[in-house]
Amino acid sequence: MRSCLKAPDQEGGGGCILARFPHPEPQRPPKKARPPVLPVFLPFAGCPGRCVFCNQTAQTGQAPRPLDAALRDLEEALSRPGPPVELAFYGGTFTALPEPWPRRFLECAGRHLATGRVARVRCSTRPDAVGAVTLAQLRDLGLSLVELGVQSFDDAALAASRRGYDGAAALRGCEAVLAAGLALGVQLMPGMPGQRPEAFAADAARAAALAPELCRLYPCLVLEGTELAALWRAGAYAPWPLDRTVDALAGALAVLWRAGVPAARVGLAEEPGLPVLAGPRHPALGQLARSKALLLHVRERLAGLCVPARTLCAPRRLQGEVLGHKNALAAEYAALGLDVRLWDAAELALLGPDAPLA
Ligand code: SF4
Repeated sequence: MRSCLKAPDQEGGGGCILARFPHPEPQRPPKKARPPVLPVFLPFAGCPGRCVFCNQTAQTGQAPRPLDAALRDLEEALSRPGPPVELAFYGGTFTALPEPWPRRFLECAGRHLATGRVARVRCSTRPDAVGAVTLAQLRDLGLSLVELGVQSFDDAALAASRRGYDGAAALRGCEAVLAAGLALGVQLMPGMPGQRPEAFAADAARAAALAPELCRLYPCLVLEGTELAALWRAGAYAPWPLDRTVDALAGALAVLWRAGVPAARVGLAEEPGLPVLAGPRHPALGQLARSKALLLHVRERLAGLCVPARTLCAPRRLQGEVLGHKNALAAEYAALGLDVRLWDAAELALLGPDAPLA
């Protein structure tokens, strides 16, 4: 692979650039410009049962504990001096906590919103636990963003995973959050029991059409201590292989990016000691999916050209992303007839055969 030292159009050969475009991933404010997230884990609190794939204790590294202890810890944490934080109630079904707990947690958050110690409040919950009245009350108490563990909009997948709601209810939940004037986050789970790749592709399209603030993609893993582990041991569930998962994630990312929806997370955050028995794991899973999604985007751009392109110029900082993990995608770009080169410009470009490259 050669490098162009200067942008070709800066050398007087601007006509040879057939397309010039930014990286398609929606830009979020840089991490240091966002308040750090202070997670408040409430494992299984408010959940109507245990979903087949879920082991919140292992995922959060915290055992379920009384809510008054969690509230006391939160009060203590917030009363210590520190920068503004974004409070995130995770690990359970926050909007279905028994009364008066959602209000008590949010009243605590609200006191610190008033002083500036808390910048924003979010929670995660189920799509069938977001009634309009509850959402309005929680919004008025300071809640800003609701992340729904939708997992899928596909009836068959939801039934096989015994989520207890169907696709229409999942959609209604998302719409209720938006109708309440709250920001929406959507979590999807490719590879969950009963799910087909086409259904996951449709899930991504449906999520993108809702224009949520963010989306999280958590491929289904078999965790010890779950019902899924028993199903897997009995041969009744087979996780998706890694290559199928990466392809599905890449397709979903391409759809989300096109809609301007950032993927805040791709793959489960693996706490040390997370008891994963099986499933599509890779230390660079998000990177693999992003690289492939970028390839899909370039392919789409190529298809829109009337003149064949011979070269893809990419910013140097994207070298690893364009070529993929261990240059795995070099052959795919070659198969598209593209020579990949690096340049100093901030955008990507497709160049015709006459590009004057250094
Ligand atoms: S997936 Fe969500 S609703 Fe189901 S048990 Fe886990 S935290 Fe509760």
